[in-house]
Amino acid sequence: AQERYASLRDRPARTRCGSVIGLQMNAGLMADLPSLEESGADGVGLFRTELQFLVRNKMPRRGELAAIYARVLDAARGRRVTFRTLDIGSDKVLPYMKPHDEPNPAMGWRAIRVGLDRPGVMRMQLQALIRATRGRPLTVMFPFVTRLDEFLEARDHLMREIEREERLGHVLPKRVEVGAMLETPALAHAPRRFFEAVDFLSIGGNDLKQFFFAADRENERVRRRYDTLSLSYLDFIEGIVRRCAEAGTPLSFCGEDAGRPVEALCLAAIGMRTLSMRPASVGPVKHLLRRVDLRDARAVIEDARAAGADSVRPAMMHHLATLDP
Ligand code: PEP
Ligand code: MG
Repeated sequence: AQERYASLRDRPARTRCGSVIGLQMNAGLMADLPSLEESGADGVGLFRTELQFLVRNKMPRRGELAAIYARVLDAARGRRVTFRTLDIGSDKVLPYMKPHDEPNPAMGWRAIRVGLDRPGVMRMQLQALIRATRGRPLTVMFPFVTRLDEFLEARDHLMREIEREERLGHVLPKRVEVGAMLETPALAHAPRRFFEAVDFLSIGGNDLKQFFFAADRENERVRRRYDTLSLSYLDFIEGIVRRCAEAGTPLSFCGEDAGRPVEALCLAAIGMRTLSMRPASVGPVKHLLRRVDLRDARAVIEDARAAGADSVRPAMMHHLATLDP
């Protein structure tokens, strides 16, 4: 199977109906960089910057981070890298930061909430990203945004840092794109202005699903009860796809489900055109996508919906069993 996937490496994920699905990879450590070539990913859809903070026993310095980010951009050789700003709190606790005892850390003081309340670290990180760019394009994504004003405030920090670099006479990024992760249900229902304000959105399905089903992503006992292919969840995701299409907002999906072939197929069938996943999943997802017609997959979803099914999984598995190998 590995050889079969390797032979697909330089081919697009083009379906039988002619849709091309962009397959990107998730990364966060230097050890992930060789996968940029090996996996055949179109770029890095999610670079989890907190991993560099978690593997240290003290706060990394700006110059250190800038050197790391520059190496990531070098390895990408012009392909887009979407840097997600620090997503700490919840399950990711920095050993050198004072722990906050919270009854519900997943819904607590985490990610952009920390960044906006204590902007020092986020600003240092943004400076490192700008410097690492050295005239190349910069793509920044803010995690766990719940409201428009949070996004605007975070983006203001970035713009102020860019102005500061300019005053210092430093090289500026050639182009800056600023987006948000969509991982709270509230954001799916944000005013249209939000969808117009962001340069792009990426659905963080791991968090979004946990809040949609009110099922802790870390708790095996409850998390397995709920299916990503449940029609209520797919309907919700489809609503996001529609709102992005209406506002002309580029949308991707970067949760773990993007790397599961059947899930990836269903996401593509409801209109997702960019998926970001762990590098090892790029081959298997591409292999399946190249064998399917999204119109057929879509019809399977519609039929299951019309029949009142809870999940489209059984019907989709049945459909896949009829495909040519
Ligand atoms: C997500 O929530 O889906 C996501 C990609 O971010 P993380 O898994 O790092 O929370
Ligand atoms: Mg998340």
